[in-house]
Amino acid sequence: MISENGAVLLGKNVACDAFAERRVRIVTHAHSDHMLGLERSLKYGKVYATPATAELIKLFKGKRVSVLDYNERLKIEDEQVEQVELFDAGHIIGSAQVLLIDENGKRWVYTGDFRLDRAEVVKSDLLVIEATYGNPKHVRNFDVEDKFLELIDRFANSASAVHIFGYHGKLQEVAEILRDYTIYMAPSVYRVARICEKYGMKFGDYFLARGQREGIFLHHMNSAKKIREGIKIYLTGWEFREPVRKISENEYVVALSDHSDFEGLLKYVELSDPQLVITDNYRVGDALALAREIKRRLGIEAIAMP
Ligand SMILES: [Zn+2]
Repeated sequence: MISENGAVLLGKNVACDAFAERRVRIVTHAHSDHMLGLERSLKYGKVYATPATAELIKLFKGKRVSVLDYNERLKIEDEQVEQVELFDAGHIIGSAQVLLIDENGKRWVYTGDFRLDRAEVVKSDLLVIEATYGNPKHVRNFDVEDKFLELIDRFANSASAVHIFGYHGKLQEVAEILRDYTIYMAPSVYRVARICEKYGMKFGDYFLARGQREGIFLHHMNSAKKIREGIKIYLTGWEFREPVRKISENEYVVALSDHSDFEGLLKYVELSDPQLVITDNYRVGDALALAREIKRRLGIEAIAMP
């Protein structure tokens, strides 16, 4: 069940990723389209997130939420008891899938945003799945990391600066890929990186960017227009043709994604083995196509919501 404002409703008591009048709110990860209505949720009931996500919420929103770590059980005592457990979603640091087991033993699972190769597949009766790459055309049949490193190598020793733009989570992943290089980070990227490091990501030497003229720089996508000089590299999940593509004299796109592609979404459904699938039609993606293909290819009932 997904409400009109994007809340994923599990059992009787739990809402995920947007506000609903439920006793428990879960934030699956610290991307803005999953932290919706946080203040209302905090006033209404109790909000939970994994330890890393809780720290990122504090950083981005200045709010404190309760902590529920992966593979810990939360018991919600009502007339009937519901149990909630979080599993690694492999999307960004701290990202979680949610399992709710209701009083009849029925398993409600919400994947949140996930990447199949790094996520645990959770068995479900009812599955709510993200649909970012729900279109069958959205398949990536290539490895990106080596091509990306080749590109960086080409410019790393030249006199010009290399500016890399992306969103939090993916930016810090890039810092991990580039751990053999010295990296300069914009302030927000740096602060998120400190939290990622605390939760197990491994970086090489990295520093706060303070007007250095040469080197490799990581910036949030929002500042892409402000920087005009040097080599500019954009990290995008919306490139399906090739891992690295030149788009102008000094600009490249790199096809790094922290979501499953279409094949990954379908594979998850198959392994999770639900009776009914709901595809997320609130957030960016193609929930209608995904629901259609799940029915057609797997023979499992599927609907897009809202
Ligand atoms: Zn996300």
